[in-house]
Amino acid sequence: MPAAIELQSVVKRYGEIVAVDDLSLSVPRGELFAFLGPNGAGKTTTIKMIAGLLRPDRGTVTVCGHAMGRNGAKAMNGIAYVPDQPYLYDKLTGREFLHFVARMYGVPSRQRDGVLEDLVPRLGMQNFLDQMTESYSHGMKQKVVIASALLHDPDVLVIDEPTVGLDPKTVRVVKDLFTAHARSGRTVFMSTHTLEVAEAVADRIGIIHRSRLVAVGTMPELRLQADQQQSLEDIFLQVTEDDHELHS
Ligand code: ATP
Repeated sequence: MPAAIELQSVVKRYGEIVAVDDLSLSVPRGELFAFLGPNGAGKTTTIKMIAGLLRPDRGTVTVCGHAMGRNGAKAMNGIAYVPDQPYLYDKLTGREFLHFVARMYGVPSRQRDGVLEDLVPRLGMQNFLDQMTESYSHGMKQKVVIASALLHDPDVLVIDEPTVGLDPKTVRVVKDLFTAHARSGRTVFMSTHTLEVAEAVADRIGIIHRSRLVAVGTMPELRLQADQQQSLEDIFLQVTEDDHELHS
């Protein structure tokens, strides 16, 4: 069975800037993968290439066996992408937006209603879901966008900074939702600056620094590679503060 996400020698430039440099990474199905790195390291650029929104200048991106680009449309049917800035239509209510997304993905109304019956109370959306989204806070928007990403039970869920602006209770719910999604055999690829979230839920962690993948592995593997440093914060600081490169 092909990996859920396969990046091979991927390079992406913006003019003179090399945002992602020779990145190779394979994420198997059923894995919750956390992607870490300092500001400007190349996380969003990588995520946009996985989601099919950017084309690499070199190398290949394959999602569930479909090459992005050639078979991009096929791959994208199975992908849900949540950007770091949640985008909603101002003049729709949250519920209208969710129904719109369900229709777009051809989700039958019974399945949609079943998912929402579970997600609306868990994410605490019942008090605002019927108001227009223009009145929402960042966290409210983020909740609706996360719910919309789960509606069609995507094979691959790609999320940029899912926990920014969310209160601790919601962070816990989101962690549980992503863990359950991975345990059901789907794949979750998320970037985060919240190391506790990565440490708590990720099966494997990748760290990108100055556009290169400098470490990848489970927490025990990263500890071994990083001379027994104990916390993910120690490891993160070690691999991103000097030219030290870890090898999996
Ligand atoms: P952050 O944690 O701050 O969100 P990031 O790891 O997601 O950062 P990217 O947004 O992928 O980083 O940016 C990687 C590099 O590419 C940075 O040097 C950034 O300035 C550059 N970059 C990103 N988008 C563009 C763009 N549209 N045009 C030019 N340069 C860009």
